[in-house]
Order: sequence, then C-alpha cells, then structure tokens
Amino acid sequence: MDITDQAKRIIAGERRALARAITLIESARADHREQAGALLEAVKGAGRQALRIGLSGTPGVGKSTFIEAFGLMLTGQGLRVAVLAVDPSSTRSGGSILGDKTRMEMLSRDPNAFIRPSPSQTALGGVARRTREAVMLCEAAGYDVVLIETVGVGQSETMVAEMSDLFVLLLAPAGGDELQGVKRGIMEIADLILVNKADGDLLPAATRTCADYAGALRLLRKRISDPEGFPKAMLVSAVTQDGLEVAWGEMQTLISWRRESGFWDANRTEQARHWFEEEVRLGLLARLDEGEMRSRMQRLGAAVAAGKVSVSAAVREALGGS
Ligand code: GDP
Repeated sequence: MDITDQAKRIIAGERRALARAITLIESARADHREQAGALLEAVKGAGRQALRIGLSGTPGVGKSTFIEAFGLMLTGQGLRVAVLAVDPSSTRSGGSILGDKTRMEMLSRDPNAFIRPSPSQTALGGVARRTREAVMLCEAAGYDVVLIETVGVGQSETMVAEMSDLFVLLLAPAGGDELQGVKRGIMEIADLILVNKADGDLLPAATRTCADYAGALRLLRKRISDPEGFPKAMLVSAVTQDGLEVAWGEMQTLISWRRESGFWDANRTEQARHWFEEEVRLGLLARLDEGEMRSRMQRLGAAVAAGKVSVSAAVREALGGS
C-alpha cells in the first residue's frame, strides 16, 4: 500500500479511500498496524478538526431514526457528516446490531455523509483504539461533524465520552414518573439529554420525562466547563424533526462557549494524554502473552498451582525481570 497516496486520497475526501483506511486500522495484524500508524501520521498534517459528538441510547430509543434526521439536516446546511458506531455487545450476538444495512438509508446515500457500522470486536480496549483512529481519519477527510454512536451498555458510554467534544444522551418517554434506570454516571457525562419521540400520543409522557431529567440534572454539581443552563434536557422528535434545529443550536452554543473559554482545547489535550496512557497500558498487557514473558508466566503459574511458590513471591519474580 502506498501510504502517501492513500493519505492524499483521504484528505481529498475520497470516501472509498477513507473506508479502506478504516478497514486497515481495524486489523490486528502486525504489518497492518505498522501501515496504519504510518497512515495516521501522514494524514495528521491536514490539521483539520471536526466537532465530535458522542451519542448514546439503549436499543429502541430511536438512535438510527434520530441520526438519519439529524444527519440529513446537517448535510442540508452544507456540512459533511460522518457516523461511527461503537457496539461492544456485537461479539455476543455474533453480528453487529449497529451494522444493520437498512439503518439510515437516506443518509447513507447522501454524498456528504459517511456511515461506518461497528465490526464485531473482542476487547473494549480494541474498540476504543479503533474508534479513536477512525475519528482521526474522518477529521482528516474533512468531515465537519463526527457522530460516535453507542448503545447504552457497559463502559462504552464513558469510552465514547472520552473521545468526544460533546456527549448527547438519547432517551424515550418513560411510562411512569421514574427515571429510566439511567445510571448517575451517564447523567454526569451528558451535556445534552434529548427525550425523543415527543410527538403524537407520546408527547405528554415525553414532556414529563423531560421535566424529570431537567430536575435531576439540576441536582448535579455544576461543571466549570459549562456555561449557564448546561447540561440541559430537551424534547425532540426524530420522526417529525421537531426540536432538531433547536438541539443543534444548543450544541453550537455550548461548543462556542467552550472554544472561547479554552475548555475545548483543554479537553482535547487531556483526552490525548488519557489515550496515550491507555494505549501504553494495553501494550504492556499484550506483552504478557508474548515471548519470554509468556513462558515466564506459564512457568510461575504452574509453580504456584503446584504449591511450590507463594503467589506473592511468584508475582515479584514475574514482574522483577521484565
Ligand atoms: P435504535 O434502536 O435506538 O436505533 O432505534 P430506532 O431508530 O430503530 O427506532 C426504534 C423505534 O422507535 C422505531 O420503530 C422507530 O420508528 C421509532 N421512533 C424513532 N424515533 C421516533 C420518534 O421521534 N417518534 C416516534 N413516535 N417513534 C420514533
């Protein structure tokens, strides 16, 4: 593969080149990893920044419908939109729920949109690296907005928030007045809560749900990286498209404020440091399964199992000579 040529094509906005590059970064093969590294270095020079929006919601809240409507609204304004999906549960189901080809049919035909479904992957660490690198490729390709979508399972929200400039939680109207078992941790990372399906018969329930969440958000400690009024809960309907323009306006208000106050840059710097440390950690873990360390682990493991060495002595020996 000619890295320089590939990088040029990506920066020129060729969708096929971008898709191919993402396939490359998804590969775990050592030679592919090396090429991927070179390619990421080569596109860095483009110096482009997109608005990275993390979007989370449990299956059925209307993520695909929302992304299709929201994405088309943005492309209608002349913006280029990339959608990446993170679905750590896809290994369990054998295929990706977010990879369903029938999702976002109109948006996927829009020349100003790029949609990449989630491949099945084993470790969340691997998913994080792959998604982060895909975001960087989309930025280099000149997308104005990169939507990183995730289902509300496990640690995926935190992971997505850690690579986003803005985090949106999508909810559906609840039956009663109880908060929908949304974990406090997710409320704490959300910048905007959008209660979807605020239309027709569901409008009263959506209004109640929205009021409940607005109340719950007020109880959270105010973050210094937020202007007055944020985080915020709002009503939207992906089907009627009501509230989408307003939601986009709120996102822009928040982002402009963070850019002007320095929190945008500070956040990106902090995220870069976080991912650096995370990858070193993963790299060290991977070494446990390689070469001399692997045989040492096996030898000491057997000695511990046979009762010949204590666990703590074996740990000291395992770590000592690395
Ligand atoms: P996802 O699993 O989160 O991607 O959810 P989908 O986008 O597939 O939507 C799940 C269901 O909710 C579908 O039957 C949609 O038609 C419906 N839905 C999505 N958005 C809305 C909305 O704004 N209003 C109403 N009434 N239904 C919606």
